[in-house]
Amino acid sequence: MSTPLGEFELIRRCFMRHREPRPGIALGSGDDCALLAPQPGMQLAVSSDMLVEGRHFLSTVDPARLGHKALAVNLSDLAASGARPLAFTLALALPRAEADWLDALAEGLYALADAHDCALVGGDTTAGPLNLCITVFGEVPSGAALLRSGARAGDELWISHAPGRGIGDARLALEVFRGTLALPGDAFERVRAAMELPQPRVALGIALRGVASAAIDVSDGLLGDLRHVLALSGVGARIDADALPCSPELAVQPLALRRLCQLAGGDDYELLFTAPAARHAEVLAAARAGGCAAARIGRIEAEPGVRIEDRDGRAVPVDFASFDHFKSA
Ligand code: ADP
Ligand code: MG
Repeated sequence: MSTPLGEFELIRRCFMRHREPRPGIALGSGDDCALLAPQPGMQLAVSSDMLVEGRHFLSTVDPARLGHKALAVNLSDLAASGARPLAFTLALALPRAEADWLDALAEGLYALADAHDCALVGGDTTAGPLNLCITVFGEVPSGAALLRSGARAGDELWISHAPGRGIGDARLALEVFRGTLALPGDAFERVRAAMELPQPRVALGIALRGVASAAIDVSDGLLGDLRHVLALSGVGARIDADALPCSPELAVQPLALRRLCQLAGGDDYELLFTAPAARHAEVLAAARAGGCAAARIGRIEAEPGVRIEDRDGRAVPVDFASFDHFKSA
């Protein structure tokens, strides 16, 4: 049993590492407000995401991975907007203030924050059921943010992925946790890393400014998130299900499970985006610049709705919905 900490002791010990001013931040943590100072000509991109125990993560999760993921899912929203991370705040409810657990949480959080040069500039800490809510602030040149509303008929549809990996692994890991299937230890560790250590595609988002016509990050499942883009853009799409990038672990699963994980899985935190076909080579260059890969998985069409086909042009049945917190079990 590790030492319990008092509120201010724990804030000072764990969450006050970024107190020095830095470009874009005139005043960091410790006062009533932080003061952000974006450069002239830049817009501030703001987004919040909350992680609730039992809903978004299991109580047994490694705290360093939880710290990583809480920030990663927020940085992923900045990535989808093409914004460069600047700062974030952390609102934390904790049932117990245990030093070892909090130190590990802070390690995971700061490792990712420092990798993206994103400063923790404030927050709130209270006793309560375990819950982490982060708000991120990023900057993007005025008018250059990637929006969900810009997809046009004829555009190519793309998904980012780690080289040699695919989408749907986080859902595959969830199925193992649920006990619906088993994977050998090393295979499980790889898909578990996809679920617990998602890599926000920040560099890709920035490289896609002026190239992509629309973008979203995949948090609730590819199809569900695609539908948000299609609705706001007033278009439809055709997907080649066999073009969806696939990890070796998912490739050996039954086809129906593979399709479910890839099309409706959720928790991927890859960028789903569109770009005019004439920008094909620039998209591939942006992926290289972003340290990842991008797969062309379909095309935007004028006719509303989503049509999914396999490589032989046969319709792929989809009887699964994307994850909706108020509908799904
Ligand atoms: P106030 O009561 O004025 O809202 P608090 O006493 O809650 O301030 O917090 C004191 C300082 O510590 C503030 O600068 C706040 O931003 C910072 N802080 C509190 N909780 C966190 C946290 N979890 N992470 C980072 N900074 C925090
Ligand atoms: Mg407060």
